[in-house]
Amino acid sequence: MGHTVIVYNGRHCTCGRDGCWEAYASATGLIKTTKEAMLKSDDHLSPIWEIVHGDINNVDGRTAFDAMRAGDPVGQAVVDEYISYLGCGLANCINIFQPDILCIGGGICNEGETLMKPLREYLSHQVYTVNTKKQTKLCIAELGNNAGIIGAALLGK
Ligand SMILES: [Zn+2]
Repeated sequence: MGHTVIVYNGRHCTCGRDGCWEAYASATGLIKTTKEAMLKSDDHLSPIWEIVHGDINNVDGRTAFDAMRAGDPVGQAVVDEYISYLGCGLANCINIFQPDILCIGGGICNEGETLMKPLREYLSHQVYTVNTKKQTKLCIAELGNNAGIIGAALLGK
């Protein structure tokens, strides 16, 4: 699903296509969006630049969220954009498969409700199942970043 296009002719993806969901909604995508926004803003004394000690190479998946919490408008804009990208792909999944539960994982999920609350809000306007009885429950995968390792170990049994 990460390689379904959410931005026509968008950001180049490692798979060869342009505009894949993963190119925006993965941690790597978030880091790229954060760096692009920081380079566009010329206020190098803003909280987001302070967080990375003036070095854009220190940007990670938490930078924009930390900057948002510090009241930085660039951080807020990046987080808002990120939630829209993530939500866009999630709405596609929900509209296609209509699962009972959709679990998301990865390091960004450590943001907890800071991420999940606006994401659920976004989805409430984007899924076409909005007026049906069956609503997909969005939650954070309990195994977090260990899910892949545990899954692989179980296959070996
Ligand atoms: Zn791709």
